[in-house]
Amino acid sequence: MQFLSTRDPSHHVGLSAALARGIAPDGGLYVPEVFPTLSVEAFAGCDTVAECARVLLAPFFDGDALAGEVPGIAHEAFNFPVPIVPLALKDDVGVLELFHGPTAAFKDFGARFLAGTFAKLPHDPKRPLSILVATSGDTGGAVAAAFHGRAGMEVIVLYPKGLVSARQEQQLTCWGGNVRTLAVRGTFDDCQALVKAAFADAPLRLTRELSSANSINIGRLLPQASYYAYASLHTWRRTGKRANFIVPSGNLGNVLAAVWARRVGLPIGRLHMAFNENRTVPDYLDGKPWQPRPSKATLASAMDVGNPSNMERLTYLYPDLNAVRDAVSSVSVTDTQIRARIQEDHLALHQTWCPHTAIAAQAYQQLSATDRAAGPWLLVATAHPAKFPETVEPLIHAQVPVPDALARLLCLPRQVTEIEASMTALKACLA
Ligand SMILES: *Cc1c(COP(=O)(O)O)cnc(C)c1O
Repeated sequence: MQFLSTRDPSHHVGLSAALARGIAPDGGLYVPEVFPTLSVEAFAGCDTVAECARVLLAPFFDGDALAGEVPGIAHEAFNFPVPIVPLALKDDVGVLELFHGPTAAFKDFGARFLAGTFAKLPHDPKRPLSILVATSGDTGGAVAAAFHGRAGMEVIVLYPKGLVSARQEQQLTCWGGNVRTLAVRGTFDDCQALVKAAFADAPLRLTRELSSANSINIGRLLPQASYYAYASLHTWRRTGKRANFIVPSGNLGNVLAAVWARRVGLPIGRLHMAFNENRTVPDYLDGKPWQPRPSKATLASAMDVGNPSNMERLTYLYPDLNAVRDAVSSVSVTDTQIRARIQEDHLALHQTWCPHTAIAAQAYQQLSATDRAAGPWLLVATAHPAKFPETVEPLIHAQVPVPDALARLLCLPRQVTEIEASMTALKACLA
């Protein structure tokens, strides 16, 4: 299998090269040249995310040096539970809990799989592999956790100072060792622009092998398709129906993995993207011109993205607006609605949402009766509520118990360098 750049289909590389580069030389994003077709029967006997990954990812790794490693990497990466929990009192609605990994957010799936693949790629001992990652909150912690302590690789995390929650900040800065954390005086979009500029900087690339662990890296997207395979097969075997998903969305990496899983043939119905007040995508689907804009700070900060990079992959697959509208739908939810949903569902359903997952729960409420009846629906729960106590606890008038893995990280000392949002400042840190 070869992978093409969204901007220049004549540029193609094998999967190992696409993983190592992160972004194509022309600035485009890697996409599979073709989508394989897999039947539900091909997944017979696959009862875990790791087993689904083995079948799903095999054709994408076909012909690549890493092909034989996929089962091992998936087994090691997806070593935590992925419960599908029915929502009390509601018919045909379940919650796909993706927050039981080491940093309590779904980013652990992609980050851990990517770290596993990088560990197996050949390395030049003279040019250390530096993973650059811009984060709006959860990515950086997941990537740092996944790569921490791995030999021959360093991680440089950039996050917008003051725009992530206290516990997210702790997870970004508690590492040391081969992880360097930079608090950038700017927004997530500034961090993302710095990472892109670093990739375009030829002198910098001479001294180190740069790679990206953002959701632009195909090595994060592909493994995420595995939990959609797992959840849709679980639903299919139980009900004989296609699962519809509501996906809290920012940079579109999560929902794109679902789009790809459906494209391969998994029994997935509708994909409904739930956004916060960053309306770039919903406005576009409403018929307005594509208009990236500065991100706006909301309660669901890991989704504060004004220029979602994975849109380029979606429009590559579905070049015209009507085709995009057939593939995905969207809604935008306000901070006021997030707060109300957290309060109501805590009282009525005994369910505690993180602010991101609350957006999916609210999006479900806003579906038409017809759409709801066309279930089953799965709400994709992207983070554990204990990551956002300052938002959640005052609303529910209770403490959220902290999962053990998270509790361990919260005791470690912080190690962080503050920089201004400029290439000069970034390069000074990398020197
Ligand atoms: C990253 C993140 C999202 C958004 O996912 P995308 O892949 O960027 O669309 C949603 N919720 C949480 C908790 C996240 O960390």
